[in-house]
Amino acid sequence: MSAAETQGLATRGFATQGPEAKFEAFNFVRREPGPHDIVIEIDYCGICHSDIHQAKNEWPDVMPAAYPMVPGHEIVGRISAVGNEVTKFAVGDVAGIGCFVDSCRVCDPCKAGIEQYCVKGSAMTYNGTEMDRVTPTYGGYSKHYVIDEKYALKVNATGDLSGVAPLMCAGITTYSPLKHWKVGPGKKVAIAGLGGLGHMGVKIAAAMGADVTVLSTSPSKEKDARSLGATGFVNVRDAEALAAAAGTFDFILNTIAAKHDYNQYLGLLKLEGVMVIVGVPSEPIPLNAFSLIWGNKVLAGSVIGGIPETQEMLDFCADHNVVSDVEVITPDRIEEAYDRTVKADVRYRFVIDMKNV
Ligand code: NAP
Ligand code: ZN
Repeated sequence: MSAAETQGLATRGFATQGPEAKFEAFNFVRREPGPHDIVIEIDYCGICHSDIHQAKNEWPDVMPAAYPMVPGHEIVGRISAVGNEVTKFAVGDVAGIGCFVDSCRVCDPCKAGIEQYCVKGSAMTYNGTEMDRVTPTYGGYSKHYVIDEKYALKVNATGDLSGVAPLMCAGITTYSPLKHWKVGPGKKVAIAGLGGLGHMGVKIAAAMGADVTVLSTSPSKEKDARSLGATGFVNVRDAEALAAAAGTFDFILNTIAAKHDYNQYLGLLKLEGVMVIVGVPSEPIPLNAFSLIWGNKVLAGSVIGGIPETQEMLDFCADHNVVSDVEVITPDRIEEAYDRTVKADVRYRFVIDMKNV
């Protein structure tokens, strides 16, 4: 390590060195905190399926993997230091970090607070670079993060923070399209895929007042779906149940992480219904034009949310007592958590306890 690299905040985390490699302890140096930076000592970091896609290099064309990779963008912890120009936070506050940690700050999307659509490309929390496009970013499977206060979230929670961490990605990724498409009372909404995103989608859509149904490949999740706030459950592998649900939904939020048939799900929409894709299967999925034209339907997409809307989502979740249902693990169980998540055997988010790292 050169002299320049040793300047900064020495920390430790867990990195993978390749698509098949196991996670191992990894010592590295974060930047020296600047006047606008805060240092977060991480308590918990959620495991998003996007971590798995990236760690295994399943999106090689759009988000190729750079190793060593320290994943993690569902971060919550306590502030251990603040720069002298910091105004939003104080030492001891609870703060969160989501999927990006900086952006150009001057383009129209950045000025509008939708920094995830920064025209220059925002600085992703890991498997990316700082805005200098050189310095690699390392994520939240680690002890500390150094971030400009502008890109950190205020968390007004005092109790157990494990269920708050997943709000930073799973929460905002579901809240943003549900709000954008005006989901609320009188709307019949389906959430496709009951995993990390899906279970947040059910809770948030129900809190918004919608009538929620889960579309799932796992009949064993029906009871949970109902206790999360759904009034209906469709086993999509049951042809009769699927046929009975045809043409019944105003809106579908599609959180599915693996290859499936979009056309089949579009068939469940009413006239002028909307399906928003947030799940990102690694392979392209064919779309039949008839699936859209018969019924004047809309197929749309959405990625995470900007800092102001993420803050709004955190406040909404606090007001409605919404947190994630989590299984807390120690860092030596990351591979097991990845395997179970890929098998749709997560109830409903793995969260790594980083406190003793
Ligand atoms: P997850 O916890 O693994 O949940 C995905 C769920 O999809 C599974 O639990 C399963 O639910 C369902 N599923 C899996 N295979 C399926 C198949 N072959 N056919 C139909 N359904 C299937 O994953 P997650 O963390 O919620 O993430 C979901 C996806 O969203 C990932 O692709 C991730 O990369 C992406 N993502 C996107 C954004 C964004 O901003 N757009 C942000 C975060 C994550 P059932 O058991 O109920 O069938
Ligand atoms: Zn995520």
